[in-house]
Amino acid sequence: MIEVKNLTKVYGSHVAVDDISFTLEPGNIYGFLGPNGAGKSTTMNIMTGYIAATSGEVIINGHNILDEPEEAKACIGYLPELPPLYMEMTVEEYLRFAAKLKKIPKSKQKDAVEEVIQLTKLEEYRRRLIANLSKGYKQRVGLAQAVLGMPEIIILDEPTVGLDPRQIIEIRDMIKTLSKGHTVILSSHILQEISAVCDHILIIARGHLVASDTPENLIKQYTQEKQMKLLVRGSIPEVKSVLNRIEGILEPSVTVNFLEEGAVDVQFKLDVQTDVRETLFHAFAEDGLPILSMINYEPTLEDIFMELTSLEEQRAIEQEEEAVRQRMLKKQWKSPSKEQKQEEARPSKEHRADMTEEKKEDGEEEQA
Ligand code: ADP
Ligand code: MG
Repeated sequence: MIEVKNLTKVYGSHVAVDDISFTLEPGNIYGFLGPNGAGKSTTMNIMTGYIAATSGEVIINGHNILDEPEEAKACIGYLPELPPLYMEMTVEEYLRFAAKLKKIPKSKQKDAVEEVIQLTKLEEYRRRLIANLSKGYKQRVGLAQAVLGMPEIIILDEPTVGLDPRQIIEIRDMIKTLSKGHTVILSSHILQEISAVCDHILIIARGHLVASDTPENLIKQYTQEKQMKLLVRGSIPEVKSVLNRIEGILEPSVTVNFLEEGAVDVQFKLDVQTDVRETLFHAFAEDGLPILSMINYEPTLEDIFMELTSLEEQRAIEQEEEAVRQRMLKKQWKSPSKEQKQEEARPSKEHRADMTEEKKEDGEEEQA
């Protein structure tokens, strides 16, 4: 089990991770989903003990990553965003070397390396120099290194970034295979990547954890409304009168369609649980108005992801604006300081400009 409590990481004045807390249970595939710069890699680097947090705690199977780093790290295999591969080594040499670093007992190293070579399908490449492998195969070597010794928890930072579609499918399949005996955590800025393999999604935006749930629950939890679009042959008043008779229709709009003669576009919102498709069919038929097309937009995970992350962006922009406003207010209301009084006593701007010119020339002469 992994417990992350109030994790915060500050770089200078920039808060990269802002008070994030979550608990991950064994056996699941978790996905960290968020736009670039959201704080995914920073969180993973702290969870794996690569960097220290500014505040907060990470506990891996009861071991605090700061107090008992050896015990905590022994439970984790990590594929960082930029895997530290040694280009001048062969695949097998590198994995042997990684086995030593991981302190796998000497008698077991050979078998452990063999196991991950099989798992990541690198048999034919074991004697190749890493430098000569394609990006997809390099990524397999990185993955092999992460699962070497079969740690309980496997953490993969953007494991499919930069790969072609076929390589992405191969890596996905490997991750799915791994998930059978391990807890897997992977990150991506692409929703499809996460929803294809993960059974639990943590959405991170601007350093905040904005949602954490199964994909199905996220859809249920965050969507109250869906949208419908119709093309109906009839006039605006005729169509409006039909819509008025149907319950549950929100914010209807009826406009002329310029492509289909004598037809109108109809748009409205609807409670996500309500289904009015058949009611619409009968109501329009009753008034002799044929429905030419009907589209039911069910909200997708993509909509929720976009909404949650853009909300967080908006909040961040508002906070920055508010901070600027506060600074300006402070300046405005501060009683004139000593410097300001001196400033007022000084000659006018134009005059000052002349003076600086003179000064500059003086300075240049001095230097020469
Ligand atoms: P993600 O992996 O979600 O793309 P990161 O965790 O890499 O995001 O970065 C989060 C934020 O922290 C970004 O704004 C990034 O610029 C900043 N950041 C990351 N590492 C450093 C660093 N070493 N020094 C300063 N800022 C950093
Ligand atoms: Mg990253």
